[in-house]
Amino acid sequence: MQLLELYKKMLPYILPYKRMVVATLALTFVGSFAAQVNALILKYTVDSISVLMVAREPLSKGFYLLGTITIILLSKELINSVVQFGQKFYGEKLRIFITRDISQSIVERILTYRMEFYTSKENESGKLQTRIDLGISSLTRLVQNFFIDILPLFANAIMALILMFYANFYVGMVSLTIIPIYFYISQLQADKLSGFRRRMRNYRETKNNGIITLIESITVIKSFVREKLEAKRHQDIQFEMTENQLVTRKTSFIFESIKSFVEQIGVVIIIILTAYFVLNGSMTIGAIMFHIMLFNNVSAPIRQLHRIYDEVNDALIYSEGFFDIIESDHQKESSGTYKPDKIKGFIEVRNVDFTYPNGTNALYDVSFSIKPNETSALVGLSGAGKSTIINLLDKFYQPTKGSIFLDGIDLNLYDTNFIRNNIGLVLQKNHIFKGTIKENIMYGKPDATEQEITEAATKAYIHEQISALPQGYESDANLLSGGQQQRIAIARLFLKNPPIIFLDEPTASLDAIATEQIKKSLDAIKEGRTVIIISHSISQIIDAKNIVVLEKGRCVEIGDHESLYDLKGTYFQIFTAMTNSLNIDKINQTMA
Ligand code: ADP
Repeated sequence: MQLLELYKKMLPYILPYKRMVVATLALTFVGSFAAQVNALILKYTVDSISVLMVAREPLSKGFYLLGTITIILLSKELINSVVQFGQKFYGEKLRIFITRDISQSIVERILTYRMEFYTSKENESGKLQTRIDLGISSLTRLVQNFFIDILPLFANAIMALILMFYANFYVGMVSLTIIPIYFYISQLQADKLSGFRRRMRNYRETKNNGIITLIESITVIKSFVREKLEAKRHQDIQFEMTENQLVTRKTSFIFESIKSFVEQIGVVIIIILTAYFVLNGSMTIGAIMFHIMLFNNVSAPIRQLHRIYDEVNDALIYSEGFFDIIESDHQKESSGTYKPDKIKGFIEVRNVDFTYPNGTNALYDVSFSIKPNETSALVGLSGAGKSTIINLLDKFYQPTKGSIFLDGIDLNLYDTNFIRNNIGLVLQKNHIFKGTIKENIMYGKPDATEQEITEAATKAYIHEQISALPQGYESDANLLSGGQQQRIAIARLFLKNPPIIFLDEPTASLDAIATEQIKKSLDAIKEGRTVIIISHSISQIIDAKNIVVLEKGRCVEIGDHESLYDLKGTYFQIFTAMTNSLNIDKINQTMA
């Protein structure tokens, strides 16, 4: 990314604070005048004192001179303090406001993105987080440096340069020639370092992600006693990173020395040149100090040039990843506009093929239909494509080929949010948000009344258990057991009250007792709605009116339990395997 491009991208975030920017710039301008006063006063003092000394004037004249200088210097310092305060404060305020806006906009942005953005490998949670954090902090630093450090320094430099040219053309030229040399060296330095920086970013992302994975997999790591292996893996990244860091530092230091040397050459030339002019009588002695101080004002910001380069380059590199995220328009979820008054729930899947963004073929030519207001089951071995169908029906992904119709209208034509508002999803493990039970149930309807909440909980057969807790509905939801959390999720759905419900292995992670308990709430929610259930539980499957059997991404059989059983095909095999695993003979003997 080029600097100009970065500037353009930042502009929308800076524009709302136009007035603050102008105020900061104005203060900077005043400050740059004040910064030259010392040099001017010093020249005046040296020249005046040498005149006094040569003319052998009385001491009182000298005191008068010192008094005047003191007053000027102190007044200037007073003005300077006010200016600096204002300049720093407004600069900082800008930084804080702009950071806030950028952070907010990225969150708002990614929330609108498609599922594939979240499931793609490059956006694994640790990596995404690091990329966002580094992007924000480097942009923030850029804004801060620009308004607080760089701008005043450069304003000073330009002012000092003008004064130097005003004093003497040749002296001005010396300073002016140093600047491009410095620029050139700084650029060389920056170019040399950019590859390392890019690599460093990768290391950081990988490292952070590595630690997160480590924590997530700790049980497996420990049970296989693979601590050493994991430590070694981490060490390899660390070592590569260290090497990279050392090379970066070494290169930086070499360039620093070169630049220091160039600067000193400038100082020496200025001294010699001015001394020559003083000796040939075209300048007063005060000019020596004056020029050195001015040169210092010119070289101070130039000395910072590499830092600015570094930071601009950081911003260019890190913000690249950041703006990539913010600008992935193709990642935005698509939506139609169709919003009927009512959804009946007649679903038709016609010749659907689906391939995940990573290239996994999940569905081939799948066709089936689901009647409204009854429960259908998707049956198949794991990996057959059952959850994929739910993903497509919820518009999380779009079919690669073929179409899905809801009440006779292509799903693509529907407003995506409208569809999701009319679909309830219960997963194997439902997400319980940090917060109270009440807040978690209310997620289904943020403006629900107390009464609606208790009603929903009652329908989900969880109200009594919640009431028995010391803090009732205000208890921490994370304290609930798996089965209870699942019923909270169902209560959430009762509040949402959608006509269509998808249950994706709702009892798979529960024990037998919890499954038994939850059955009633599941039966309650199914009533009068179009329900698709994916389950490995025989009772839930044979309860379904309609069964769609999937095998390796293909829809192989459709029908009710009895007819499919009689077919003696895939369903028959799966069903027999399920019953065999139950060891029904033994159970019968026990129960008899
Ligand atoms: P089921 O629900 O029947 O167990 P899935 O629909 O989850 O099966 O998976 C079908 C196929 O799609 C599998 O090969 C699985 O690995 C793949 N798959 C599932 N989710 C994703 C995803 N987010 N990205 C890529 N491939 C996926």
